Amino acid sequence: MRIPVVDLKAQYRRIRVEVDAAISTVLESGNFILREQVCSFEQAFAAWCGADDAVGTSTGTAALRLALLACGVKAGDEVITVAHTSVATVTAVEQCGARVVLADIDPVRMTMDPISAHKRITKRTRAILPVHLYGCPADMVSLTRLAEERGLMVVEDCAQGHGASLNNRRVGTWGRAGAFSFYPTKNLAAYGDGGAVVTSDPQVAQGVRLLRQYGWDEERTSGVKGGNDRLDEMQAAILRVKLRHVDAWNARRRELAGLYTRLLTGSRPVLPKEPEGGVHAWHQYVVRCKGREGLRAHLAEQGIQTLVHYPVPVHLHPAYADLGYKKGDLPETERVAQEVLSLPLHPEMSDEQVQEVCAAIWSLTG
Ligand SMILES: *Cc1c(COP(=O)(O)O)cnc(C)c1O
Repeated sequence: MRIPVVDLKAQYRRIRVEVDAAISTVLESGNFILREQVCSFEQAFAAWCGADDAVGTSTGTAALRLALLACGVKAGDEVITVAHTSVATVTAVEQCGARVVLADIDPVRMTMDPISAHKRITKRTRAILPVHLYGCPADMVSLTRLAEERGLMVVEDCAQGHGASLNNRRVGTWGRAGAFSFYPTKNLAAYGDGGAVVTSDPQVAQGVRLLRQYGWDEERTSGVKGGNDRLDEMQAAILRVKLRHVDAWNARRRELAGLYTRLLTGSRPVLPKEPEGGVHAWHQYVVRCKGREGLRAHLAEQGIQTLVHYPVPVHLHPAYADLGYKKGDLPETERVAQEVLSLPLHPEMSDEQVQEVCAAIWSLTG
């Protein structure tokens, strides 16, 4: 593909000197697990998010699971989330033993619809888990108000929302905890797997620290049962380098998204909008288009790669049939899944490439 959706090699070439130095520092130190790199990264990432603490984890899925567990979610509890997301969101809830309850989405934001969430609350509901999908902040004003009224916890899936905010408050700091992923294609990314829980609740931070390493305290005594969900020193050192660049990268994403919107206004696809008072992290630039497959094929013919996040909502995956939902239960979610198309967007992209994608869209759809 001439215009790929992401270009991780181009990014590495631009920061090679810093990354190579960071990796060699770790190699020379002889320390690979839970030492100064992880500790320094946690402090820097918490400060960047505007939270008191951050705890590094092995993946974003682990961050979600440990955040929920540390907040006290347990077997028999219900957690309300969405089906228009990565299956990882739902898996993490199930791994806590909790029951997944799915709310529909607001089709403009493509994030949890607070009215639908409200309708799904039962006596057993313990937490609400909104997803800041594509980097668009969910309606946290309504969702945190709803949670407060009903005595529920909020845990945020921020895997696509690094740097997104609402009313000058970053995602991950609205709920009791926020879970981030540093999967290689995310806005802030490792060269491998990684994740973090962000929180200003010392009990939650402590809980995640215990759970991520066998439940060990400082004497290596397990007061609680835990597995191995650690972030490693190498990835933490890489993340410290990249954290210095992420604001500039997000600013470039914003410029490119603005260019897409300017050039595509008036064309057939429905364009993404930044919510009022919100800052979108532009993890993806996702348009909605009836007859999506035709547009995808047309772009592919011209060497333009696109992706669909996500073609099948979680409740319609065979493995999740046991959640008890059927086709038609989440109408907005199911409609959106048929229409969404993620256009190429990454900080290394040129204005000319965006212009080319837009010209190709106009030439087919008008
Ligand atoms: C990437 C992602 C995850 C999972 O993160 P991993 O690091 O791959 O485990 C969870 N939720 C959403 C919305 C994601 O995009």
